[in-house]
Amino acid sequence: MPDVRVSQLYKTFGDVTVLHEVDFTIRDGEFFTLLGPSGCGKSTTLNCIAGLEKPTGGTITVGDTTFVDSTAKIFRTPEERNLGMVFQSYALWPHMTVAANLAMPLTIRKASKKDKQQRIADALDKVGLAHLADRYPHQLSGGQQQRVALARALVYSPSVLLLDEPLSNLDAKLREQARAWLKALQAELGITTVYVTHDQDEALALSDRIAVMADGRMLQIGTPKEIYETPAAPEVAAFVGRCN
Ligand code: ADP
Ligand code: MG
Repeated sequence: MPDVRVSQLYKTFGDVTVLHEVDFTIRDGEFFTLLGPSGCGKSTTLNCIAGLEKPTGGTITVGDTTFVDSTAKIFRTPEERNLGMVFQSYALWPHMTVAANLAMPLTIRKASKKDKQQRIADALDKVGLAHLADRYPHQLSGGQQQRVALARALVYSPSVLLLDEPLSNLDAKLREQARAWLKALQAELGITTVYVTHDQDEALALSDRIAVMADGRMLQIGTPKEIYETPAAPEVAAFVGRCN
């Protein structure tokens, strides 16, 4: 599976710069986390990778394909880039069953009926929700909705998974369980994952490597151990240490 390379990513909204030449490379199969306080630019970075937000400058490479969005004519979406995305709010279609929610990205890709049924069954199986295919989102618990959103992101076998605070709407106990479950699933699938969170504990528990951000800048990239034991800047120590 391909890696992701973000190079000199620069983003302004009006005259406000929210990303200052951010650089990082994610290895094949890695669980990579963007960690930082609210408003530091994590979602904007993820949305630029996803093709949902247009960078002001810089390049994004996924596998063999480089997207130079500031000059590109085409504006791609996560599906077109073959990336699976889970939003903080899950963004399930409320008027559609679980199966219909999963069918949507496959219909857009013109999958055959047989292929669709197989993929939906496989994806629901991966998240342990095969028995809930005919339910509507409002008939599911928060944890189940979160799994459906993950199944929908996995249904077209994306090369990379993008997760924006996927556990933040769950209560504390459920979040701990979901964390362990998510980590196990990611390891089993071996899928390159870009995870966004403001929760230090979560980042330390889940990640192969963590990129700590503040004010649109990358402060340090390292393993949980490196970030925790040898913070590169006082801001990193203050932020990562705050949970203790
Ligand atoms: P995070 O995900 O780390 O909380 P965001 O990437 O959402 O941070 O936001 C980074 C900064 O960009 C914030 O100051 C936010 O207010 C600003 N921002 C995000 N999206 C927009 C937008 N569409 N228009 C203007 N400012 C935005
Ligand atoms: Mg965010």
